[in-house]
Amino acid sequence: MRLVTYELEGRLHPGAMAGDSTVVDLASIGVSSIAELIAAGAAMLERAAKFLNEAPATAKKPFSSTRLVAPIPRPAKLICVGLNYRDHAEETGSEIPEVPTIFNKFATAVIGPGDKIVLPKVSKAPDYEAEFAFVIGRGGRNIAPEKWRDHVFGYTIVNDVSARDYQRATTQWLMGKTFDTFAPVGPWIVTADEIEDPHTLDISMTINGEVLQHSNTKNLIFKIPDLISFLSSVFTLEPGDIVSTGTPSGVGMARTPPRFLRAGDTTVVKIQGIGELKNPVVAEQ
Ligand code: ZN
Repeated sequence: MRLVTYELEGRLHPGAMAGDSTVVDLASIGVSSIAELIAAGAAMLERAAKFLNEAPATAKKPFSSTRLVAPIPRPAKLICVGLNYRDHAEETGSEIPEVPTIFNKFATAVIGPGDKIVLPKVSKAPDYEAEFAFVIGRGGRNIAPEKWRDHVFGYTIVNDVSARDYQRATTQWLMGKTFDTFAPVGPWIVTADEIEDPHTLDISMTINGEVLQHSNTKNLIFKIPDLISFLSSVFTLEPGDIVSTGTPSGVGMARTPPRFLRAGDTTVVKIQGIGELKNPVVAEQ
């Protein structure tokens, strides 16, 4: 299933895509959000799948009349992994890491598909990062790597927008990573059953039609089992937490000359088996 959150008449609804032109409202199965559906566990997911097949006309909305927001508009955690593709670590002059580099973006940075990435006046180096992300289903602490499938609910796309001047001003990256609008997420969460092997997916970033990043999740240094095990050795992973797994080579700061984001750009992150996350870029007013 492709699970979405959409706005209709001023309210947010949890939904599931039925083909490409219809959204089925999942509110009538007894959940008010996708986060709630995830937290409710496997039985609720089954109920959603069943409802999607048998949905009455009153629960169906034309996709064109709905506005998608991020599938989880305010995730409890949006965890990011730095330098997790060998080629990207090399292009930034970094060592190949032996321990995952972890940082986060605050929930206030999250925007949905089609929402504007706002370039802050104070940064001279706003950059893009195409990323594959997984969403935690069942939570836990000290999860063994081989149990990873029991804890992954599904997959989505993140653009880890980064103000390089703020990111590199200190050893802590957070301030460069968490400007408002710097975390486009979506367009939906694809449930785990739809993707047999998440470590074989093509990933790309295209801006204004030019392909600037292109790789495959097989090139991830730390893969999902390692990440779930490492993260949960420190803190409790909870249903609906999002883990963005890092970006491949081709980011703007590593290009000659650098290619930073500009007002008028449109970023498109595409991941095989998931879809496309598209966002316009504007200047802060
Ligand atoms: Zn990143």
